[in-house]
Amino acid sequence: MKPHDLHTHTTYSDGKNPVVDHIRGAEAAGLSYLAITDHCFNPSAAEWITQMRDDIRAVKTHVTVFAGIEAQIRDASGATTVPQQETEKLDIILVDIGGMTEGVFRNPPASKQMAIKNAVTAYVNVSADPLVDIVAHPFNLGRTPSGIASTDITDADVRTVARAFAANGMIFEIMNSSWWWFPDEDIASFTKRYADIVRIAAEENVRLSKGSDAHAVCGVGMLSWVDRVIAMAGVEKAIIDPSMFVRNA
Ligand SMILES: [Zn+2]
Repeated sequence: MKPHDLHTHTTYSDGKNPVVDHIRGAEAAGLSYLAITDHCFNPSAAEWITQMRDDIRAVKTHVTVFAGIEAQIRDASGATTVPQQETEKLDIILVDIGGMTEGVFRNPPASKQMAIKNAVTAYVNVSADPLVDIVAHPFNLGRTPSGIASTDITDADVRTVARAFAANGMIFEIMNSSWWWFPDEDIASFTKRYADIVRIAAEENVRLSKGSDAHAVCGVGMLSWVDRVIAMAGVEKAIIDPSMFVRNA
């Protein structure tokens, strides 16, 4: 298994350090593959992607570095903020549910069950988008206004999403700080619940990636919680080979 971190943020969005620092950090962490995946919330102002890609290509390194973005899912339809005109320049595209997502974080419904249903529908629909490679930290729903707990997400919800991911080849990211989204939950209990979620996904033949979601160079390659979850879930075989993203180099 070639060590990888396919989710990091630099000064091209809200990260603290430039691309070159992330690449040195990846070398120091012993990674074979790194992705720079800065946030893209506005697809009509995405010219920075060209410069980011050029910055990446200009650094001499033995690490394979992918130019990427993390776009956001807009609503349950699965529409995203991926800039269609820039995708040729990108090796890897992540999407997440976040502050812009209608019916989950924005204009949340009265019931948390409905918010979960909207999220599940959004994941199912976005999995059919051929531009998207990876869903970042699936089920990061704990800081939504509806007050969702990890145990409110049912195994049936997970299986519904997992079947759609498997059918469409969508990759499920295990993100190192997924627990952060559930501030009221005990870490040990949450870790066990998230390992269950990941195990169900792998049972449905979903492939998994690893990401730190580092917003500073000190977090690049920080995957200790991810590796705990993988070991607890017994899903080593479901981890992707990141060389699948070597296409625009
Ligand atoms: Zn991120």
